[in-house]
Amino acid sequence: MKIHEYQAKQILAKYQVPIPQGDIAATPEEAAAIAGKLGKRVVVKAQVHVGGRGKAGGVKLADTPDEAQAAASQILGMDIKGLTVEKVLVEEAADIAEEYYLGITIDRAARRNVVMVSAVGGVDIEEVAATTPEKIAKVHLDPAIGMMDFHTRILAIEAGLNPAAIRPASGFLKALYRAYMDVDASLAEINPLVLTAGGNLIATDAKINIDDNALFRQTKLAELREEQEEDPIEAEAHRKGLIYVRLDGNIGILGNGAGLVMTTLDVVQREGGRPANFLDVGGGAKAELVRSALETVLLDTNVKGVLFNIFGGITRCDEVAKGILDATAAMDINVPIVIRLTGTREREGQQLLQGTHLIPAASMQEAAQKIVELVSHAGKATFP
Ligand code: GDP
Ligand code: MN
Repeated sequence: MKIHEYQAKQILAKYQVPIPQGDIAATPEEAAAIAGKLGKRVVVKAQVHVGGRGKAGGVKLADTPDEAQAAASQILGMDIKGLTVEKVLVEEAADIAEEYYLGITIDRAARRNVVMVSAVGGVDIEEVAATTPEKIAKVHLDPAIGMMDFHTRILAIEAGLNPAAIRPASGFLKALYRAYMDVDASLAEINPLVLTAGGNLIATDAKINIDDNALFRQTKLAELREEQEEDPIEAEAHRKGLIYVRLDGNIGILGNGAGLVMTTLDVVQREGGRPANFLDVGGGAKAELVRSALETVLLDTNVKGVLFNIFGGITRCDEVAKGILDATAAMDINVPIVIRLTGTREREGQQLLQGTHLIPAASMQEAAQKIVELVSHAGKATFP
């Protein structure tokens, strides 16, 4: 789950991380009032759940309340990477001498948290990572040890931070790590960490992503979820408690078991098709659940065909077949549905499907071939 910069900064402030003073505004007038109260040069910053706001024109400096008002009226309502700006953060501007990058995330290949520091932070950090990765110092942390002083010193020195910044930057890193662990983050970044002309360090940007799987215990943070920033179908699926991920193809995929569904996505792709989603209906797959899953998949108007891939273990194929038939009987469906049923009581399950509008397939391969062919024909019929 993503949270806004100002929310991430509020978290960091609890760990004694120095952040600029400021407040949030929803109108240009509010922005002017905050700038007036601060009484100095401010920066007006779009609050949206994407990075690259600076390059998109969503970060502007303002010397007076009038300028802050003008900047806010330009930024509010702006579209940044498909998201509309509804709030701006107005805070005291930093006098930047150097911009550093601090970040902590999960390195899945290493199965560890990785801490990264660079002396060339700022809006081009992605380019630095791509073209000169040696300019980013990295340390993988042993979870039993966590972050120690020697880690932070190695990072700051290897990254080539200004010597005067090494000791205070270590404090920022330790605080960032404590926050990262405490809020169950999957990413915590300060970019840029600014070394000011006066020689102080301040976090002028902050980004924290929370692990969705930890939201059950991060109940305060879970309240910060903003549905309008999520895909609407994914939001609906999550409300129904379904494990659904939207993709950009046109073949709806449902199966029982995450591994089976992921394999199905691969097989469909290999047959030349493009999956529209991932949906794990789980074990059992009773009619009510199948119906709600199928309805969700069909909310996506790109879907031109559906593939069910069911492996009966404890789950019985005849029960699943009944579930799918009950569900589809009550629905108005005008796309082909291919079903591969195998495992416990598969013969009974397949018999139930005979003579219905549901198209059986003997194997996953065959099911993928069938749905890909049906969908490509459907495409031709609609767009001759
Ligand atoms: P992002 O582009 O979404 O990462 O937004 P940032 O908050 O990182 O801002 C982008 C860039 O704007 C920074 O790298 C700075 O160069 C600049 N910027 C942000 N805040 C300030 C500030 O307080 N003073 C000055 N002079 N520049 C700032
Ligand atoms: Mn940034």
